[in-house]
Amino acid sequence: MEKILYICPTPIGNLEDITLRAVRILKEADIIACEDTRVTQKLLNHYKIDTKLTGYHKFSEKEKSSYIINLIKNDKKVVLVSDAGTPLISDPGAELVRECIKNDIKIVPLPGACALTTAFCGCFHENENFIFLGFIPRKKNEKEELLRKYSDINMLFYESPNRLEKTLQEILEIRNNPYLTVARELTKIFEEIKRDSAENLYKYYSEHKPKGEIVLIIEPEKTQEIDMPEVMNKAKILQKEGYSNKEISKILSLLTQVPKNDLYKLLLR
Ligand code: SAM
Repeated sequence: MEKILYICPTPIGNLEDITLRAVRILKEADIIACEDTRVTQKLLNHYKIDTKLTGYHKFSEKEKSSYIINLIKNDKKVVLVSDAGTPLISDPGAELVRECIKNDIKIVPLPGACALTTAFCGCFHENENFIFLGFIPRKKNEKEELLRKYSDINMLFYESPNRLEKTLQEILEIRNNPYLTVARELTKIFEEIKRDSAENLYKYYSEHKPKGEIVLIIEPEKTQEIDMPEVMNKAKILQKEGYSNKEISKILSLLTQVPKNDLYKLLLR
């Protein structure tokens, strides 16, 4: 019998978002490894699945991986799920998959619900490329490093509702008021997909404290279309008029959307 570990996505809110194949594999399995047995049991009850559950969460990945590998080696059909969405996408499973590969166990990943891809399909596309880096870092200097490094591509992050307001404020300080999408409570009753400038979203969410789960999409900067020699000519004119480099970078940044810190550095050169 072929030794297989199935990776099975589960709904991110709406219980209908699960494939027929996923339901069949969950039914046929001998054991389902899951983060929280109470959460997964609700899904199993909904689909009348009576497969046994075993816990596999981020604190038990190492010891549980060898237990699961032994089950698979003993011809048990094992499926890995997470509480919601796709395992391994900011969820446990990497250790188990790594150990399976080392032990010549085949990985069969199933397609299905994922907050990241669902959010990206529902947002405005300046271009179609994106980078996903899990939860947005809490520290401002780490945010800044990422936002500067990937300024020409859509950036997708998972974010907590309690931190959204502060994150928007910091993005405003780092970047020049970019366009963002806040995709909240996807597939659920209070689903909300809101696209606006960072400034407007900051104002909105300061007055309407967000609840629920959030994917944040930061659109790329539009520097490619900007005629930088022309911008620098304007800077020279303003310098001759006696404006300081700080004032010039602020004015030109407002007019061109080029981040004021980048303009300031250019002016110093
Ligand atoms: N593995 C999951 C997936 O495939 O989307 C993600 C797990 S991660 C621990 C949980 C985070 O995903 C949440 O804090 C939130 O940022 C995002 N998320 C999950 N469900 C969501 C939903 N229905 N709407 C918006 N964001 C969601």
